[in-house]
Amino acid sequence: MENFSGIPEGYKRGVTKYIVVTGSVISGVGKGTFTSSLATLFRFYGLRVSMLKFDGYLNVDAGTLNPYRHGEVFVLADGTETDLDLGSYERALHQELSKDNYLTAGKIFKHIIEKERKGLYLGRDVQFVPHVTGEIKYFIRKLAMKTKAQVLIIEVGGTVGDIENSYFIEAMRQLRHEEGRENVLFINVTYIIEPEHLDEQKSKAAQLGILRLMSLGIQPDFIVCRVSRGLENNVREKISIVASLPEQNVIALHDFDSIYEVPLYLEKQGIGRAMLRYFRIRAKPDKKFRHAWLRFLQGLRNPQHEIRIAIAGKYTDVHDSYLSILKALEHASAKLRCGISIKWLETTELDNATHDEIAKKLANIHALLIPGGFGKRGSEGKIKCIRYARMHGLPFLGLCFGFQLAVIEFARNVCKLDANSTELDPKCREPVIDLLPEQKNISELGGTMRLGAREILIKERTLAHKIYQKKIIKERFRHRYEVNPAYVPLLEDHGLVFSGVAKEDKRIMQILELPRHRFFFATQFHPEYSSWPLRPSPAFVEFVNAAMKYAKENSH
Ligand code: GLN
Repeated sequence: MENFSGIPEGYKRGVTKYIVVTGSVISGVGKGTFTSSLATLFRFYGLRVSMLKFDGYLNVDAGTLNPYRHGEVFVLADGTETDLDLGSYERALHQELSKDNYLTAGKIFKHIIEKERKGLYLGRDVQFVPHVTGEIKYFIRKLAMKTKAQVLIIEVGGTVGDIENSYFIEAMRQLRHEEGRENVLFINVTYIIEPEHLDEQKSKAAQLGILRLMSLGIQPDFIVCRVSRGLENNVREKISIVASLPEQNVIALHDFDSIYEVPLYLEKQGIGRAMLRYFRIRAKPDKKFRHAWLRFLQGLRNPQHEIRIAIAGKYTDVHDSYLSILKALEHASAKLRCGISIKWLETTELDNATHDEIAKKLANIHALLIPGGFGKRGSEGKIKCIRYARMHGLPFLGLCFGFQLAVIEFARNVCKLDANSTELDPKCREPVIDLLPEQKNISELGGTMRLGAREILIKERTLAHKIYQKKIIKERFRHRYEVNPAYVPLLEDHGLVFSGVAKEDKRIMQILELPRHRFFFATQFHPEYSSWPLRPSPAFVEFVNAAMKYAKENSH
C-alpha cells in the first residue's frame, strides 16, 4: 500500500515479538500494573524487553496535564513529560526509557500535520487508514529496531471501544497481519464485577468487552481478569468460551499488598512461559536479577521498624499524583526493613494555621516530606510545616517546590527578609526564588520547563556527599524557578549550605542542607524519578534512615 504500511528501511520481521495489552470494561483496574509486571517477569527470563505506552488524548505529552485528574507527570531522563505508567515501566525494567517509548494521539497528529504541510504525502489525501495507522506502525517498528528488543510490550491506554484509541487498535490489528500471527500476541485486561449484595462474580461486562475487541478483528490470546480475590471457576469457563480460549489462558489478577509481588504471581501462573513458547524464544534466566528482586520483596514483607511520614501537599486525596514518591519510599523501606505509614497533610487547609495547630498535626510524626508543586494555594501551610521541622529537628526532605519553599522559610525566619517566590507573589519585596533567566521570555506551557536529567556538582564534606558518595550525580528536573543567585551569599552567611550546584551553570543551586540539623535536606531535582526497587534513591534511603533514628530517640 504505497509507502504507508509503516516499514522503516532495514526492518526485519520476526526479530522483535510484540505483545499488545488492551483493556476492557473500565480503565484503572491494573492494566499498567499487569504490563509492568510482565516486563519484570521477562527480565527474570533474561530477555531484552522494551515498552511503549499509547495514550489516546490529543495532548502532545503529559506536561500540561493536571495531576489531580491524571496522576503525576513523570519525567524521563531526556526531558519527556509522560504519563505515570512510564515511571512504572522504568521501575519494572530497571532501564531508562525515552521519548520513543511514549506515544500520544497529539504527538502522532502533530507529526502528520507537519508532514502534510511540507507536502510529504505527495498530493495524497491524508487518511486514518493507511496514513495514521502507517505512522503508528512506523513508530513502533523504529522503536523495535532502536532497542533491538526481543519483546516489545505495547500498552494501549483507555478501553476497547473508545473513539480515542480506535485507529490505534486498528493499527495493532494490521501489525499482527503484517508481522505474522507467530510474532504478535494480544492480551485483554478486563474487569469482573463483584456486586456486594450478590456475593458472586459477574462476567457479563467482561464478556461484552471481549466481544467488542473481537468485533474489531482481534482475537485475544490471553484474558487477564481483575478481581479482588480469586476467580470463580464458572466465570473462568464463561470467559474462555466467549474468547474461544483454553481455560489456562484466562488468568486472575487479584489485589496485592505491593505491585512488586505481581511478577512472581504471573510466573507461577505460567503466563510468561506460555508466551515464550508461543514466540519460540528461549529464556536465559537472569538469576541475579530475580534473586535481588526476591530479596527486595523480603525486605518489604518483613519490616523490623515502623515509622510515620507526613507528606504535605495539595493533591493529597489523589495519591497517584505522588506515585513516584510513594514508590521511592517503598524502595527505601525495603532496603532498611522499615515499614512506613503515610500521613497526608492537605496544606490548603493549613495556610492560616497557628504554630500550635501545625505542632499538633506533626505530633507523632517521624519525618516530613514536601513534594513538588505549583502555585500559591497551600504554599504558606507548607512553609509553616518546614519551619516546624527546622526548629524541632524533625527530618525533612523537600523536593523541587519543597526545596524552594525551604529557602523562603529560611530567608523569612532566619534572615528576617520579607521573602517569597515570584511564582507566588510576582511583586514580592525580596524575591529569593525567581524565574530561571532562560524562562523569562517563554509563553507556551507545554515542554518549556527546565526538564530532564542534568549533572550536579556535589560539595565534599556535606550531607549530600555522604548520601551520594560521589562528586557528580545526575538527577531529573522539572521546574521554571530557581534560587535567586543574588541572595545566595546572604543565605549562606546565615548558615544555609548549598551542597549541590548545576554543572552546566554553577549559579543554579540544586541541593540545600542545614549542617546542625539531623536531616534537613532539599533538592531542586526530583530524586523520586530515578528510584528503582533494586536501586533505591540514596536521598530517600538516608531520609528514611534519619526518620528511624528520630523515631527511636523520641519513643518513650
Ligand atoms: N513551581 C516550581 C517551579 O516551577 C516547582 C516545580 C516543581 O515542584 N516541579 O520551579
